[in-house]
Amino acid sequence: MAQKVQGTEDLYGGYMRAWQHMQAVAHELFDTYGFDMIETPALEQIDTFVHGIGESTDVVRKEMFRVVSGALFERLLEEGTEKGLKPRQRLAMRPEGTAGVVRAVVENNLVPQGSTPAKLWYAESMFRGERPQKGRLRQFHQIGLEWLGAPDPAADAECIIILMELYRRLGFDMSKLRLYINSMGDSNCRPAYRKKVKQFIYDHKDEMCEDCLERAEINPLRSFDCKNEHCQQIMQSAPLVTDSLCEECAQHYAQVKAYLDAAGIEYVEDPTLVRGLDYYTRTVFEVEVLDAGVGAIGGGGRYDGLVELEGGKPTPGIGFAVGFERVALALATQGVDMEGAEPTCVYVACAAPEQRSAVFEATLTLRDAGLRVEADYQGRSLKSQFKQADKLNALVCVIIGADEVANNTYTLRDMNTHEQVSIAQADLVDEVIELMYSAEFEDDVEL
Ligand code: AMP
Repeated sequence: MAQKVQGTEDLYGGYMRAWQHMQAVAHELFDTYGFDMIETPALEQIDTFVHGIGESTDVVRKEMFRVVSGALFERLLEEGTEKGLKPRQRLAMRPEGTAGVVRAVVENNLVPQGSTPAKLWYAESMFRGERPQKGRLRQFHQIGLEWLGAPDPAADAECIIILMELYRRLGFDMSKLRLYINSMGDSNCRPAYRKKVKQFIYDHKDEMCEDCLERAEINPLRSFDCKNEHCQQIMQSAPLVTDSLCEECAQHYAQVKAYLDAAGIEYVEDPTLVRGLDYYTRTVFEVEVLDAGVGAIGGGGRYDGLVELEGGKPTPGIGFAVGFERVALALATQGVDMEGAEPTCVYVACAAPEQRSAVFEATLTLRDAGLRVEADYQGRSLKSQFKQADKLNALVCVIIGADEVANNTYTLRDMNTHEQVSIAQADLVDEVIELMYSAEFEDDVEL
């Protein structure tokens, strides 16, 4: 039997409903802040990610799925090197959303100088060649939001407010969420800070792992995220970025915190929070769920240099991404089920083959009224049609037999009580809707 790729999942049934629910909640919320949806291609030139995410990051070096066509693959095998490839032939599946959105903003000139900022959101699959485990997939889904052209610290605070509101609307117990924030400085103050951390790692080189020594050369700040416990301990006494911020960055950070305080958003300052990607400047943030054991459920930050790196004019930006699978796992640990109830329907049952065309017409009428309608397409007996209707969660069955056709009537069966009534053909839609409504709310009515 063919099998799916390790670390990928099929989305269907309740799990698909949960993904759709998360998108619907995000859509409604983001709309109130004026964000429009965007979809960029899953396939981009590698350079789009290299420019933004950074050549030295794990995502670019190890985790990106690179793509070649069959013809190109054969050529590469023959030549034994990819050196001759043109940039447009070097492709990868997107490992994250921001670089592609920024590429699209630049290419389509969505933030012409001096005009309104671009406010965009997406709900897409991301692809990373990671070792699969709980909450870590090779194809996963993110909802993300990008706000281009807004340097104001109020935008940073609003992004965080939107993110936390999204979690609240999805049903999280907010007392269990921890929002971590930090400022990573900018092109003014970060280079000096990087140097300090690099020197710190060299000063402790006998005690740190090989990976950290390599990181010291190419991306020293990544050592704060080293999985090695001993390295983690040492890095606790490394210089902190917050002590190295220039005046502008320090003021910006103070203002973001003041806005969060004013909005009543609780946060924990974590001066070691550096996030994995190179493009972040100033504000960065991440959200974890206590006792859920799934890692971060979302994070983001400001990226004021990214548009230029992608070939555009200097344009500030900020955004975040939330992982669907981890949100679903974390919500489940809190007893919240994002799947929602299975959809209900109305079933049109056919007593004998002679009434099949009458059934066909009734299904069309009911669907025109916007109802979810099922019928039999396999020539089942009436009894097994009722069974089928139960399986399909039908609240109401419309029964059509010879008498109904002769008298211009339908019989309606309440699938809960099994009570049946006869109605005039012309009243079909009204009567079905009324019965479905009362069946749906039967259990909720207080007597
Ligand atoms: P990142 O782009 O790494 O900051 O990821 C943003 C969010 O996407 C994280 O907070 C996770 O919720 C989710 N995420 C990242 N990587 C994975 C993965 N491999 N599998 C599932 N979810 C992920």
